[in-house]
Amino acid sequence: MEDKPVSLHQLFRRALSAQVDLGIGEMILEAKNNRPHDLQWTENIKMVRKVETTPDLFGSPSQAPSTPQFDSLAAHFEAIRDCQLCPLWQTRTKLVYGVGNPHADLIFIGEAPGRDEDLQGEPFVGRAGQLFDRILAAISLPREEVYIANILKCRPPNNRDPEPEEMDKCYPHLQEQIRLLRPKLICALGRVAGQMLLKTNIPLGKLRGLWHDYEGAPMMVTYHPAALLRNPAYKKETWEDMQVLKKRLDELRMGGGSIY
Ligand code: URA
Repeated sequence: MEDKPVSLHQLFRRALSAQVDLGIGEMILEAKNNRPHDLQWTENIKMVRKVETTPDLFGSPSQAPSTPQFDSLAAHFEAIRDCQLCPLWQTRTKLVYGVGNPHADLIFIGEAPGRDEDLQGEPFVGRAGQLFDRILAAISLPREEVYIANILKCRPPNNRDPEPEEMDKCYPHLQEQIRLLRPKLICALGRVAGQMLLKTNIPLGKLRGLWHDYEGAPMMVTYHPAALLRNPAYKKETWEDMQVLKKRLDELRMGGGSIY
């Protein structure tokens, strides 16, 4: 937390330096030579079914709760902090519940905690998390303004991929979190999160570039920040996705303005 007031000029400089960090200048120049990101999304959106304007996740009788419902994220966290539903509790240091604004309009969902997250009990604090913070800064979204969670709340040993049984056991926790948060928009980070939330095996490359419907909330799937560290070529498409996401968020916050 900063104790000194931050001027607009300083904020602008920070956003700019986050963009330079990400190599966004190069991405924009490259994008000009390819297809403009809005065009790509508009074309793809025609292929996707319309997002319902009345969310059915939040209280429709058809969504009978299979797990207990809570009044707040804090109460939910207290109830599950010692969770032993899958064997990962035996190797975890801390359960990584989620972090951010409990009234966030936008929730990011990653895969599972890594070593740093397991030690600190907070999602996206390691190397991938630092890159993720810079991505958020580049679209002028402070980490504190959004909510960040994972499909799994405990670290798989050696950061292996989550097992299907682990995801099945943990998923109701995330569902309850999403029910409490009532986000206007969801962004899945990476294949594992995208496929789990959409209950599909479709590869990430095909899930990207489309608006999906997660229980009535518009959802996009983009690259995981760790994938960007391994393959910087994905940064260009991620930057396009982030601009589309921010635009949609601004429209929803202004009270409508659907891109459909
Ligand atoms: N990767 C994730 O998917 N989540 C984290 O919290 C950290 C790294």
